[in-house]
Amino acid sequence: MSKMRFDALADSHKREKILIDETGKRSDLFGKNVFNESKMLQFLTTNAYDKVKSAILSGSKIDRKIADQVAEGMKAWALSMGATHYTHWFQPLTGATAEKHDAFFDLLPDGRAMEKFGGGQLVQQEPDASSFPSGGIRNTFEARGYTAWDPTSPAFIYKTTLCIPTIFVSYTGEALDNKAPLLRALNAIDEAATGVAQYFDKNVRKVNATLGWEQEYFLIDKALAQSRPDILMTGRTLVGNSAAKGQQLDDHYFGVIPSRVLSFMSELEKECTQLGIPVKTRHNEVAPNQFELAPVFEEANLSVDHNLLLMDVMDEIADKHGFKVLFHEKPFEGINGSGKHNNWSLATDTGVNLLSPGKTPMKNLQFLTFFVNTIKAVDTYEELLRSSIASASNDHRLGANEAPPAIISIFVGKQLGEVLDELEGVSKGKLSPQEKTELKLNVVGKIPEILLDNTDRNRTSPFAFTGNKFEMRGVGSKMNCAKPMTILNTIVAKQLTDFKKEVDELIDKKNLKKDEAVFNVLREYIKNSKRIRFDGDGYSIDWEEEARRRKLSNNKNTPKALQVLTSKESIALFDVTGVMNAKELTAHKEVELENYIFHIQIEGRILGELIYNHIIPAAIKYQNLLLENVAGLKEVYGAAHKKITEPQLNILEKIAEHIMAAKKLTDAMLLTKDKAHKASTIAKKAQAYCDDVKPYFDKIRAEADGLEQLVADDMWPLTKYRELLFVK
Ligand code: ADP
Ligand code: MG
Repeated sequence: MSKMRFDALADSHKREKILIDETGKRSDLFGKNVFNESKMLQFLTTNAYDKVKSAILSGSKIDRKIADQVAEGMKAWALSMGATHYTHWFQPLTGATAEKHDAFFDLLPDGRAMEKFGGGQLVQQEPDASSFPSGGIRNTFEARGYTAWDPTSPAFIYKTTLCIPTIFVSYTGEALDNKAPLLRALNAIDEAATGVAQYFDKNVRKVNATLGWEQEYFLIDKALAQSRPDILMTGRTLVGNSAAKGQQLDDHYFGVIPSRVLSFMSELEKECTQLGIPVKTRHNEVAPNQFELAPVFEEANLSVDHNLLLMDVMDEIADKHGFKVLFHEKPFEGINGSGKHNNWSLATDTGVNLLSPGKTPMKNLQFLTFFVNTIKAVDTYEELLRSSIASASNDHRLGANEAPPAIISIFVGKQLGEVLDELEGVSKGKLSPQEKTELKLNVVGKIPEILLDNTDRNRTSPFAFTGNKFEMRGVGSKMNCAKPMTILNTIVAKQLTDFKKEVDELIDKKNLKKDEAVFNVLREYIKNSKRIRFDGDGYSIDWEEEARRRKLSNNKNTPKALQVLTSKESIALFDVTGVMNAKELTAHKEVELENYIFHIQIEGRILGELIYNHIIPAAIKYQNLLLENVAGLKEVYGAAHKKITEPQLNILEKIAEHIMAAKKLTDAMLLTKDKAHKASTIAKKAQAYCDDVKPYFDKIRAEADGLEQLVADDMWPLTKYRELLFVK
């Protein structure tokens, strides 16, 4: 095994960068492999084109005849691009994407060969649903599930396959994936936000949620990554002594990107551009070998698809360049982990960002309306929002001293905080003309200026307002953004619906003017949602205490965080917004818990293997070497050996102590794991894995790392941190 470490190091040193042709403009490449607007115009009949457009805009159904026409056009385009296969591309609850390729190639009854692809194949497919988690939705009699075309996310060609984005649902219509609930949430926010936006502009017909994610990741030499069973099987290092040089020097952040990495990035960006993913920025991150990539924001459903596609493409291109991408939230102990900030806003079909202050008082009242409603929604459903970013791997990050805490709070900045404080003082009921003028000129009217110098960017807040959007910072780097986006849009949709009801009531029953009614309702929201606003240091212990006083949830682990998904309030929320029914919620929660258990279970097994089959044997080998040495010295020096063999004997003893402790802890961990596995319900099982099994991991690790410090370097079997992190 130690041979493997040194072979891998030799391989990594031999690697050369691949030259990437950078001639030509990126904009010429953009969307080359996407069945986008211009391709639709070229390959579809006018009728089919109109029907697809209206399906995208208003969600109208596409009938079979039109589907046949669309399929025909898509096929013609795909074949012209050299595609040979097609697949329904979907997002099962495992978190990754799935696909099953079929060839266009088919045989006619008379034996002639041809390329076939009809409306039937475009619209609906039946993958083998039984191999994907369903949380008990599919019992045997309804075992089938199907994928159905999502026309709002355009088909694309990856390599030689036409990929058709789809939802994945059971035959009874329950979502078996992450996309179906997201689409329903986006529909809910569209309806709710359009209703409210029309207070300010009658021409608004549609509101899209927008998402701009920032993907952080580590890039490790492929051979080195493969030499570590823990990285290979769990995506993170379960043992490993910290490198002498970590990120203390802060010399990596925004530093010069290493040239092999730059080649990888260039090819990745070119591929993304052709796939219609509008990648824009790239830079080094805080930790060594950590990087970030961010696109221009897009409509949320498309943006989610693009992030998932990006992760697939990254894996492939990294491999070609001799790298392995680590998407795990905490691949290395002692240095920063990775996240995926989700920047979120709402945009109208008239081109207005609803979270961006405008030039007139009315536009600013619109801004305040959406701003305050978002704050109120997050306040009411903070625990639910926390649940949307819960996962075994993200548990290493949330609450650790680098990432947002497990407590949800909102940063609005000092100046906007002051505006909210002033609005709290608005009179009840009708406003005097003076008060109105004062509000418009000196409170609401001042907002654009305020934002211009609102440069105070609190990096420790999990949900921060950053000028024209909110940034959700707790999302994990490995996660499907569909989950947080579904919950965020659902809670804001519910909030905006309630808001509209209250405002309408004040207008109808209390005879208030529209702006008076809006001010009146916002005032109450501002008063009632104060506890969620926090501009201080989110990493501090004081904040944990303060948050407890404010009765904010602080669920530090996934099994606990997921519980709220099926509370009475959550079920009612998802039901009234039409996003998920109780059966789906229960099932999705169950799958999340299963994923958690699975994750910890694998980590436990791999850790056991590392200790028993790699680390202890290496330590014993080194012990033998020391023993041989001691015996030899004894032979030569006789009774006088004691003085010279003392250091060796001391090391021998230390090694023995670590071996004993490592073995004892590992045995106990494995026993506890078996016990946890027998828990009566899935929730109890997950909690047992979390509370009883997981705590052993760090203790075992400490013994393993102790051994790493003692054993001769050339006898140590596992590739070390310094090699993983500093070989470029
Ligand atoms: P940072 O957080 O690193 O300081 P920026 O402020 O430049 O970054 O923006 C981060 C991300 O916010 C970008 O990926 C961008 O696409 C996204 N973004 C900007 N405006 C919006 C918006 N209206 N809706 C959603 N995302 C947005
Ligand atoms: Mg950011």
